Amino acid sequence: MKRTAVRRVQRVLQKRAEPAVATAGVRAEIVSFGQRMSSSGLSPGKSGNISVRVDGGMLITPTGIGYHEMRAADIVEVRLDGRVAPGQRVASSEWQMHLAVYKARADVGAIVHTHSLNATALCCVHRGIPAFHYMVAEFGGDRIACGPYATYGSEALARIAVKALGARHACLLANHGAVAVAETLRKAYERAGEVEALAAQYARALAIGRPRILNAREMARVVEKFKTYGKQTELKAKS
Ligand code: 13P
Ligand code: ZN
Repeated sequence: MKRTAVRRVQRVLQKRAEPAVATAGVRAEIVSFGQRMSSSGLSPGKSGNISVRVDGGMLITPTGIGYHEMRAADIVEVRLDGRVAPGQRVASSEWQMHLAVYKARADVGAIVHTHSLNATALCCVHRGIPAFHYMVAEFGGDRIACGPYATYGSEALARIAVKALGARHACLLANHGAVAVAETLRKAYERAGEVEALAAQYARALAIGRPRILNAREMARVVEKFKTYGKQTELKAKS
């Protein structure tokens, strides 16, 4: 090979290697939470997907690869304009949904989508989670809304998810599953588990009677209280 051609190849290889090195930690974190999501049963089989916002785009799980077969190199980098550099796996079928949420919500740094059992049961009867329990306020409002049905992986579903989320931290998607968002992946994953717990409690309450719904004023009060909940140092500093 001519020296100029060798240099060109080296330049291309260098360019491809840079983002992989810069994002190695995030890729490993996505794989690790994916495996946890699968092992814990939070999302069955290959269902669900995970992404983290990075400079100029996001890193997202590949489509249709089991979480325990997934390696850091399988995580796909999608740019904000939807472009994917060649040589990568095919991104999750829900990449448009993840991207739409990042574009609509500057506060969101990570997204966890699951088909968790009870959240999915509720959304299959087109029910969201109302203020049946004060913990619903942890999601930033007086309900976790359920958006209407659209085909998985569609642009329509992306729009529905953005609308159902509003300014809150989770939503359900009819006949599909749940979406949880947060600044960090750890927090988004934790929220995905909390949505499932609330869904289980609400489904149980529905089975034994008529859940009593807390009013909007009470929920607004709890939303305020949650702004300082668990912040040990802040509370200490005040006293
Ligand atoms: P992917 O494997 O393409 O991420 O699909 C899983 C899923 O949950 C689709 O909604
Ligand atoms: Zn799904």
